[in-house]
Amino acid sequence: MNAAVPRPVIPLPFDLERIRADFPILAEPVRGGRLAYLDNGATTQKPESVLRAMDHYYRHQNSNVHRAVHDLAERATTAYEAARDRIARFFGAAREEIVFTRGTTEAINLVAYSYLLPRLKAGDEILVTGMEHHSNIVPWQLVAAQIGARVVAAPVTDSGELDFDAWRGMLNDRTRLVAVGHVSNTLGTINPVEDMIREAHALGIPVLVDGAQAIAHLAVDVRALDVDFYASSAHKAYGPTGFGTLYAKRGHLEAMQPWHGGGDMIRTVSFEGSTWNDIPYKFEAGTPDMAGAIGFAAALDYIEAQGLDAIAAHEHALLEEGTARLTAIPGLRLIGTARRKGGILSFVMDCAHPQDIGTILDQSGVAVRTGHHCTMPLMQRFGIPATVRASLGIYNGSDDLAQLEAALHKVNRLFT
Ligand code: PMP
Repeated sequence: MNAAVPRPVIPLPFDLERIRADFPILAEPVRGGRLAYLDNGATTQKPESVLRAMDHYYRHQNSNVHRAVHDLAERATTAYEAARDRIARFFGAAREEIVFTRGTTEAINLVAYSYLLPRLKAGDEILVTGMEHHSNIVPWQLVAAQIGARVVAAPVTDSGELDFDAWRGMLNDRTRLVAVGHVSNTLGTINPVEDMIREAHALGIPVLVDGAQAIAHLAVDVRALDVDFYASSAHKAYGPTGFGTLYAKRGHLEAMQPWHGGGDMIRTVSFEGSTWNDIPYKFEAGTPDMAGAIGFAAALDYIEAQGLDAIAAHEHALLEEGTARLTAIPGLRLIGTARRKGGILSFVMDCAHPQDIGTILDQSGVAVRTGHHCTMPLMQRFGIPATVRASLGIYNGSDDLAQLEAALHKVNRLFT
């Protein structure tokens, strides 16, 4: 299939009301009142254009891909492969380097089993950081345990930054892979992945970046980063759930063995043995999520139409405003005050447990997440069981922050 002709994306001027009108669910009353959706780190809402693209697919194009000559099969295959071109363009990758997965978690597991495990020896190390999501810890532990290798974590400072010098000091000739989150889902910290990739590569160590919290908030160019593996999820970037991608350098994908076996990933099958399809299909066994790919491509169209620089500027302004509002609340302590931060406000309060705070916020229509956010080692590092996390997206505004702030004052009134 030919690469798609790149379409220039001319960003629209940032207009919050117009953007909000694109997301039907934002008009949904919750607890009888206005919704302040501040749970974007868990999942984002979907714009009309994504809903329409997926609806259009099922109404007008649905068929299984790659396996028939009839008209609908051709339409489905064309739309599905055009989505791959679109997604590859977003990351600055070649289409063969984009493997479709169920999300970030599956992408990381694919690298763990298909790339790392066959290369791992007893005593080897996988170097992560103390702020990783469980899905960037546990897959490495699973493969390490099979071989007698281990996962080691670089320390995090009190402000929630990676201790870069300590991290660099942990790189050694046993380090088989570096894995790091681009943006921490709990702290908002933007990690210095450019410097980390440079340092690791100087020692010949490949790097995986977990981009789950990054791609909807800052521009990512895998070629400029020179990253080996980049994992992401559509649902955290205004696309559908259950879909995501692994970017991997062509050389890695070609050298890797398939992980899942089944239809589409083979070239020939016989009882004497089978041969594999070309990349990326070698890693895509079974009927894929066609609507998921098409929905993700539409979400990336949406993001680029607004412009990632404009989105980042909007979210940064809101982060500063939110930080000021929250730090003025008596008894509230922010967890994560890194110098380079994405739109995440994690906090604890003296007067109440995060779970109770979340319940009071919900009564005021404020949707946040409470708990360990799948970062239990980070909770241990800060000596807390949980935080309340407000996480920003493209459609948030000062009114959402004001609603959060008012509800937090209510928490203080109720519990002190
Ligand atoms: N990494 C980070 C930093 C995340 O925030 C998440 C989702 N909370 C994941 C990985 C896992 O993403 P998914 O559940 O979509 O596979």
